[in-house]
Amino acid sequence: MLGLAGFRVLRVAEVDGELEVTVETVEERTGCRGCGVVAALHDRREVVVRDVAAFGRRSRLRWRKRVWRCREAACATVTWTETHPEIAPRAVLSRRARQTACSRVGHGESVAAVAADLGVGWHTVMRATSDHGAPLVNDPDRLAGVTALGMDETAFLRANRYHHTTYVSGLVDTASGRLLDVVADRTARAVTDWLAERDAAWLERIGVVSLDPHRGYANAVGVHLDHATLVVDHFHVIRLVNTVIDDVRRRTQQATLGHRGRKPDPLYRVRKLLLKACEDLDTQGWARLGDALRAGDPDGQVTAAWQLKEITRDLYRAPDIHAASDALTLLYTWADTSGIRELRRFAATVRRWQPEVLAYFTTGGASNGPTEAVNLTIKQIKRVGRGFTNLDNYRLRLLLRCGGVKWQDQPATRLRKRTAPQPSPRLVA
Ligand SMILES: [Zn+2]
Repeated sequence: MLGLAGFRVLRVAEVDGELEVTVETVEERTGCRGCGVVAALHDRREVVVRDVAAFGRRSRLRWRKRVWRCREAACATVTWTETHPEIAPRAVLSRRARQTACSRVGHGESVAAVAADLGVGWHTVMRATSDHGAPLVNDPDRLAGVTALGMDETAFLRANRYHHTTYVSGLVDTASGRLLDVVADRTARAVTDWLAERDAAWLERIGVVSLDPHRGYANAVGVHLDHATLVVDHFHVIRLVNTVIDDVRRRTQQATLGHRGRKPDPLYRVRKLLLKACEDLDTQGWARLGDALRAGDPDGQVTAAWQLKEITRDLYRAPDIHAASDALTLLYTWADTSGIRELRRFAATVRRWQPEVLAYFTTGGASNGPTEAVNLTIKQIKRVGRGFTNLDNYRLRLLLRCGGVKWQDQPATRLRKRTAPQPSPRLVA
């Protein structure tokens, strides 16, 4: 009933609204650790740990530990207390409860929620998560079979009065969407060091590397992945053009209103709508966008930035690299003749990365989906674990969630076995 090998149940009771199961080990005879002579039972000592919930209630194990004594007078070993791997000395949780806690956190629940549920402290759950999670995350098999690598920065700690925004670099298997690792910083060095730890065979298999167009990752790739094709993919370019819209919108707000965007300001109210793909806008969306631009964009600069975004999106609908080159020409012309600083800067970046942008059209071009999915999950984890300050914990949480770890959860067997349909008696008759 207990599902714990090596234990037998002595008593089940309800204590403080919890299920309390009193247990002892099945080891009724044991030899002395010092001399091997059969030991005598000397005493009992009780320890209580919280276990996995049972029947929707918290449950605890009260283990009546045996204290053994050696009968041999000449032996140096006098007494000792029995041990069991399921309940570690001074533990607050049973081993399986710790494992379950790790799995729940790994699947996206907050440490605080799991701790409250188990009735233990935050640190107890965090320790259980790192003890049980680290071997899963550090399993070298987890990194096997990668052929397409993506690297991307995310903000880890927002700037405050003590420090600037700190960043981390995420390394993603862009074919499967598995997060491979998270390293401190967004410099070439951060990525070079990580690549240096991989063996030659692993590096050799990487055919495509996709990266962000305005960071030093390309240098890092040159050192270890000289043979791979560099791609600046869809996702990164769209993100870049979206920041152009945001920048122009903020500047326009400042110029027309004399202050930063506030809730009732027309452009501020459509800041998310401006970034939406035009085919995803409904009639109401178009109307709101039109009204806001008429009211808040007298020089048409935000409109021009918005059009640049749609031209960029069109680029990615190009069926082949030739059509994509033509689309790029249109993009350059639009940005260069706009007379708008932010648009021209965007075009300059795209020009600088043109081979890598066009490589998207020769490498299958399907890598952006998984990377975006990982980024969304990262955002969600950051929301759940408000106030991450420890990079190790953050890395652990991210890798448990999207690192493709092999959980050892047992698949459930069916409660009702499906049986072959019986011939209806009427038909038989
Ligand atoms: Zn002994």
